[in-house]
Amino acid sequence: MVMKAATLFDKGEECGIEANAGKYLAAEAAFEACHTAMLTLGGMGYAQEYHVERLMREVMIPRTAPVSPHMILNYLAEKVMDLPKSY
Ligand SMILES: Cc1cc2nc3c(=O)[nH]c(=O)nc-3n(C[C@H](O)[C@H](O)[C@H](O)COP(=O)(O)OP(=O)(O)OC[C@H]3O[C@@H](n4cnc5c(N)ncnc54)[C@H](O)[C@@H]3O)c2cc1C
Repeated sequence: MVMKAATLFDKGEECGIEANAGKYLAAEAAFEACHTAMLTLGGMGYAQEYHVERLMREVMIPRTAPVSPHMILNYLAEKVMDLPKSY
C-alpha cells in the first residue's frame, strides 16, 4: 500500500486514500511487532536494558502523529465508503 501511494504521488496523481491506508497499516504492523516482542521477552520486555521498551514507546508516535488511527479510519470511511462525516 505504501508503494502504491508513493507510485501515485510520483505520477502526480491523487494518493490521499492510499497514503492514509499505508500509514495506518504500517503503524499498526509496527505496534503489533513491538507488542509481540514485549510479550515474547516477558518482564524483560519492559526493562530499559532490552530496548523493546524504547521501541514500544516510540511506536506510539506513528499512532499519534500526524494523525491517529481513528482519524485515518474517519477519513477512509468518508472517502472510500462514502459514509457521512462523523465529527
Ligand atoms: C512526537 C510528536 C511530534 C509532533 N510533531 C509535530 C510537528 O512537527 N508539527 C505539528 O504540526 N504537529 C506535531 N505533533 C502534533 C501531532 O500532529 C498531534 O499530536 C496529532 O495530530 C494528534 O492531535 P492531538 O494531539 O491534538 O490529539 P487529539 O486530536 O485531541 O486526539 C486525541 C484522541 O482523540 C481521538 N480523536 C480526536 N478526534 C476524533 C474524532 N473526530 N473521531 C474519533 N476519534 C477522535 C484521536 O484519535 C486520539 O486518540 C507532534 C506530536 C508528537 C507526539
